[in-house]
Amino acid sequence: MFPTFSLRYARLPDRFYERFEPVPVSTPRLLAFNRPLAEALGFDVAAVDEQQATEWFSGNTIPPGAEPLAMAYAGHQFGAFVPRLGDGRAVLLGEVIDRQGQLRDIQLKGAGRTPFSRGGDGRAPLGPVLREYLVSEAMHAMGIPTTRSLAAVTTGERVFRGVPQPGAILTRVAASHIRAGTFQYFAARGDVDALRELAGHVIERHYPVLGDLPEGERYLALVEAVQERQAALVAKWMGVGFIHGVMNTDNMAISGETIDYGPCAFMEAYDPRTVFSSIDEGGRYAYTNQPWIAQWNVARFAETLLPLIDDEKERAIERATAVINAYPARYEAEWLAVMRAKLGFEREEEGDRALVEELLEAMRIGRADFTLTFCRLGDVAESAEADSSLVELFEQANTIEAWLARWRERLTRETADPGVIAARMRAVNPLYIPRNHRVEQALAAAIDEDDFAPFEELRAVLARPFEEQPGREAYTQPASQQERVFRTFC
Ligand code: AMP
Ligand code: MG
Ligand code: MG
Repeated sequence: MFPTFSLRYARLPDRFYERFEPVPVSTPRLLAFNRPLAEALGFDVAAVDEQQATEWFSGNTIPPGAEPLAMAYAGHQFGAFVPRLGDGRAVLLGEVIDRQGQLRDIQLKGAGRTPFSRGGDGRAPLGPVLREYLVSEAMHAMGIPTTRSLAAVTTGERVFRGVPQPGAILTRVAASHIRAGTFQYFAARGDVDALRELAGHVIERHYPVLGDLPEGERYLALVEAVQERQAALVAKWMGVGFIHGVMNTDNMAISGETIDYGPCAFMEAYDPRTVFSSIDEGGRYAYTNQPWIAQWNVARFAETLLPLIDDEKERAIERATAVINAYPARYEAEWLAVMRAKLGFEREEEGDRALVEELLEAMRIGRADFTLTFCRLGDVAESAEADSSLVELFEQANTIEAWLARWRERLTRETADPGVIAARMRAVNPLYIPRNHRVEQALAAAIDEDDFAPFEELRAVLARPFEEQPGREAYTQPASQQERVFRTFC
């Protein structure tokens, strides 16, 4: 049985969405079903057979109680405002209450042309579906807030993205699919009633403590709370070298989860200017820009709430601006906390920031692998014999050797034993990340040869990012010259 729907979004006013049922597909095949997640969502997993799952997750059978719809939203795409985007290929079946009592959206992505499709075909190619599956689940395993992947199916139909590819559908689970762009949709229409209703819905779902605040404070507090989650989220991305690739305002979830895995990728050799996305020609969403793009996006969100923040426009702007101006300090604090943990520090010291920056600069000059640097540093924390394994990641030894001496001196002021510090570091520095060439290999095998073994293997590896997995050392390694991925496509 499908868990019982507890419909919320479908109960909001009509103009929030278009009712729309998934368009049936010819010959669906189940590729993946995330049993632990299904269990957490309240599925009776033992009772779900493959045929049943294939029916539900292809959209060919609508589970009882669902009221499928496509959500309306707007968004700034690469800085340019588009007043009507909406779910052009995604269908929200409805919300369920998970085993922890939290509402979770269940959405089929790639479910056919909706009233928001414009020129699009409403479908998703297999490659991006598998990438989203792998990367979103990896992010979750690394402890980073994210939408989840419940299932993937192929449709038996072809989709064309320059070349034909198998069509696929991803079942995505989210705290909600409400985006900054959802607010922008109503703001663009001057629909203050809708904004109030949406804000109320968001507060109830994602920020319930704000519900106790008086009207006059609630909406500004919402901006602040959303901003705090974005700052924390992006700091976590930065801590694992994740590059989202398309941080448009329609791809910023109000819940604070990572959403919309398109041309996302993980950095290998450290370079803050890294860009992978083929569509990001100006490098707007480069690794190093992400914290500031998040602030820009939150500012766009704040603008939508101005009429609710204060009756007097000038004063609303002033109050919202004061909140947005607090972002840099907030982000820096989140980022420093992430980086301190990565370096094994529990104490907070004045010089930590400089020490982190010096390491990053040494990594940049030495073209050191981002992920392995922190893992090997964990080994070094325990044993000086590991030094060479770290230093060999750098194209030249001197800067990192000099830095290591300063880091060791700093560690002497930590109270924990070296073994404890190393364990602490291993708990935050992933050893296995979705390396781009591995992801591409898994996708290529699936697309070109209908071979899902590499996908399955990678999925298993990424489920345990922090533990050493014997026999899987190859997955810890960066791409060779020939394997290197320079561009990603959505
Ligand atoms: P994205 O770049 O995935 O964040 O999508 C931006 C907008 O384009 C959203 O409104 C999507 O629903 C829409 N879109 C993306 N791909 C398709 C497609 N294949 N068919 C219809 N709409 C799409
Ligand atoms: Mg999107
Ligand atoms: Mg999308």
